[in-house]
Amino acid sequence: MMKSTSPENPASDTSLQAFGTIAESRLELAIEGSGTGVWDRNIVTGRIHYSRGWKALLGYAPNDLTDGIEESYTRIHPDDLAYVQAEMQAHFDQHTDSYAVEHRIRCRDDSYKWVCSRGRVSQRDEHGNALRMTGTTTDVSDIHALAERLQQSVDLITNLTNTVPGMFYQYLIAPDGSAGYRYVSTGIQDIFELAPEQAIGDDQLIDARLHPDDLELWQTSLQTCTATLQPWHLDYRVLLPVQGLRWRNVNARPTRLPDGSTQWHGFITDITERKRLDIELREFATTDYLTRLPNRRHFLTCLREELARIHRGQPSTAVLMCDLDHFKNINDTHGHAAGDLVLAHFAGMLQEQLRVNDTAGRIGGEEFAIVLSGATLASATLFAERVRQRMASQPPMVTGQPLVVTVSIGIAVMLASDIHVEAVLSRSDRALYRAKEAGRDRIETAVD
Ligand code: GH3
Ligand code: MG
Ligand code: MG
Repeated sequence: MMKSTSPENPASDTSLQAFGTIAESRLELAIEGSGTGVWDRNIVTGRIHYSRGWKALLGYAPNDLTDGIEESYTRIHPDDLAYVQAEMQAHFDQHTDSYAVEHRIRCRDDSYKWVCSRGRVSQRDEHGNALRMTGTTTDVSDIHALAERLQQSVDLITNLTNTVPGMFYQYLIAPDGSAGYRYVSTGIQDIFELAPEQAIGDDQLIDARLHPDDLELWQTSLQTCTATLQPWHLDYRVLLPVQGLRWRNVNARPTRLPDGSTQWHGFITDITERKRLDIELREFATTDYLTRLPNRRHFLTCLREELARIHRGQPSTAVLMCDLDHFKNINDTHGHAAGDLVLAHFAGMLQEQLRVNDTAGRIGGEEFAIVLSGATLASATLFAERVRQRMASQPPMVTGQPLVVTVSIGIAVMLASDIHVEAVLSRSDRALYRAKEAGRDRIETAVD
């Protein structure tokens, strides 16, 4: 119970002296040993008694220091004084149950020390005015130094992760399957066009940015790595409100925590430009510049894939070898550019005739090959005839005039006994040779 005392008779000096006696007690010694000092303030007279331990805390001898409250304020760091006084006043005015503040206080050697000061009014008059207050002062400088070092580490990580382009994150999947981002760097603004706090509040917002065609791949791959604890590397697409379709790459590592959660640390970067270059390079490597058809190397790859299908039991596939007749004459008569135009015209015409599973490639100067998936010798001959007739009915235009260009074609079918594609290529090549021998502008099928 709080003792009520009249303003004329506040906590008397006798009680302060009594406190001095307590200071000798074992309890006081124990408190001193823990880096805590005790104070007792007479609010009416403005005098404070400090325990020996309190003085020792700041480096003072037992007989140092006066007991005036005004002097005590001069020891509080100027930046902290207003806050300390406001907290004290709030407690005097009974807005708080007790008084507790952390602030800096000046020691005997003029250095400042972080302390935690706690207290409570122990006597009030009948109007509730505070008369006496007792409390403790604890040295918290070690904790403060630690907190400061921790803050410096946090600042360092935050600054680093926010400076590097890309998004750093920490993600946690709880044993019950619930998941969420624990940390995301500000790079998320570029990577997902979201604010960090949005993603931390609701991880579904990031999922919603994924390209619908890549969502399943993304989820499956994340689940696999969560189960196997393997590092996660994935390229995937996102659809963003402003940037539109972009490519992202995630590199992340999972660790299993003792409670069964999986913690991820990862880094996501923008790889859109790299993907664009990849596609461009792949096109350079696989496409013939003049005709836009697959080049010889890429055509042979397609042919090998087709032979593998034949080996797996696909019934039939035909390979056509086409060679423009007397092409050298075109170059010689109309110039190389006209020759180029004829090649591009023929390639375009071939492309128009093909079905999705068929492939035509430019395998030499004026030599083209076609693989007709599922075609027999008979259906391939019909196709070849259409090509030959189309070249006649829709000739290339050279300097405004239609130019008669004919084509010879040799056809062979792939055999399950063909070990390499070269076998079927040489059969269709021999058929082509026979077409040339027989006078050109014609189709021959393999006889061997
Ligand atoms: P054949 O009827 O026996 O096939 O005779 P041809 O003249 O078509 O055959 P030949 O092999 O003697 O000549 C092919 C020519 O194609 C020679 C070469 O200069 C030309 N050529 C090769 N590549 C290109 C090209 O990219 N552009 C142009 N304009 N000409 C090319
Ligand atoms: Mg030729
Ligand atoms: Mg030729």
